[in-house]
Amino acid sequence: MKEILIAHKTLLGNKLLENIAILVEDGKIVDILDAFESEITHIPVRTFPENTILMPSFIDTHTHLSSYGISLSKPNLNKFTLKKDVIDFASEYIKENERDVYIFVGYDDSKWKDDSNITKEDLDKISNKKPIIFKRVCGHKAILNSKAIEIIGSIEGLDTNTGIALEKLPLNIYEIFKPSIDEIKEGILKAQEIALSFGIRSIVDITNVNSFRAYQELKREGKLKLRVGIVLYERFFEYVKNVGLEYNFGDDYLKFLGMKIFLDGSVGSGTHDVLLKTDEELAYILNMCQEYKVQLLAHAIGEKAINQFIRVFKLNVKENYLRHRIEHFEFPYYEDIELASKLNIYISCQPNFVKLWGGYDNMYAKKLSYETLKRCNLYKTMLDKNVKFSFGSDTMPLDPILGIQGAVEHFIETERISLEDALYLYSTAGAEFLFMEDKIGKIEKGYYADIIVLDENMKLLYTSYEDKTPYSFYNTNY
Ligand SMILES: [Zn+2]
Ligand SMILES: [Zn+2]
Repeated sequence: MKEILIAHKTLLGNKLLENIAILVEDGKIVDILDAFESEITHIPVRTFPENTILMPSFIDTHTHLSSYGISLSKPNLNKFTLKKDVIDFASEYIKENERDVYIFVGYDDSKWKDDSNITKEDLDKISNKKPIIFKRVCGHKAILNSKAIEIIGSIEGLDTNTGIALEKLPLNIYEIFKPSIDEIKEGILKAQEIALSFGIRSIVDITNVNSFRAYQELKREGKLKLRVGIVLYERFFEYVKNVGLEYNFGDDYLKFLGMKIFLDGSVGSGTHDVLLKTDEELAYILNMCQEYKVQLLAHAIGEKAINQFIRVFKLNVKENYLRHRIEHFEFPYYEDIELASKLNIYISCQPNFVKLWGGYDNMYAKKLSYETLKRCNLYKTMLDKNVKFSFGSDTMPLDPILGIQGAVEHFIETERISLEDALYLYSTAGAEFLFMEDKIGKIEKGYYADIIVLDENMKLLYTSYEDKTPYSFYNTNY
């Protein structure tokens, strides 16, 4: 069926223009017309009210959608602002629910007003008979009680005295306590509905082999509605090598992209300035990726890890056709921004982190030196220097509007970007990250009609590909 869509403004490139009509047919954009011209075409017209924005659907270039889906079924501690309430909630939950292992997700000790220290003693008071794990919101830290430590034994990054586990255990928690493929599928479907309700159509999911399998089953069953690029964690590299998977293998719904490694940790867990690999190790990995044609995503938050990647990349990669990426890129040196641009390194930023933890009186300000804080997510500088970057949420949470606010209202005023640029970075700019810049991310003839319309409060009003009631976590008054 042919249909014409006319909103108040339309995002073309990084400009919001008026009086534009989009002709859509069978999931494709067939033509772009002048709104006045469209009146004489005899094709049904759908007109949206004042202050609406029509744009390509959001592309989230850094998610953990499948593990988020699984965690949706786990009790969440994120809403609490008192440690006491966290403990009470967990105690109550354990009394009422029978589980082999109790995994609580999303706790954020930086928000607790009474006491922001938590160790295994606190969890032992809840229960010393049942294994309990609290996973921090950043994903890089977890607290275990004595029973959980007893079951897991020793694992890298776990301090058995305090019960604090950094990096390995929290990052691989669903590997250690594996959900079934069916559970993963169920989780993906839940998370997919939330993504779609935010106007997200395409994502990169950084995940494991079982989730990759779950996605393949969902696609065969006709249930996959998102366009998904799969990135696997480093420990699956042998699998990738043995199977012979190469970058951009798949189709417009599901494809393999590459592999993610960690060069540092997170600010929240105090590991953002700890280098997890030597230059030699990183060079070895980069060369392997080049040899086996696998895209590399390097998690680098602090300036040390960012600098390390750029330094090693410069020595080892001549042309970035695999579109190797830096993830987060939160506190770069100015010189490294310029180098990243020159070397054509792809960068996925998380502007929701600025919204959640930025500012002169927030978590980043408390954990970092002033000098470092002043280099927090330099979006305006990156635009001015023509850095190839896009936005993603890291699923904290998925809501793109939260990130757009973070970028537009940046606490460093000189680093604020326009709404148009923020929308562009959350849609058009992401297409290249999925090797789909000729198919999605633009309101252009021949492209998929992955089109959304936002209302005056920046809430999803309409999608051209699905009929659904918008769902929202946040009351965003824009
Ligand atoms: Zn990361
Ligand atoms: Zn991540």
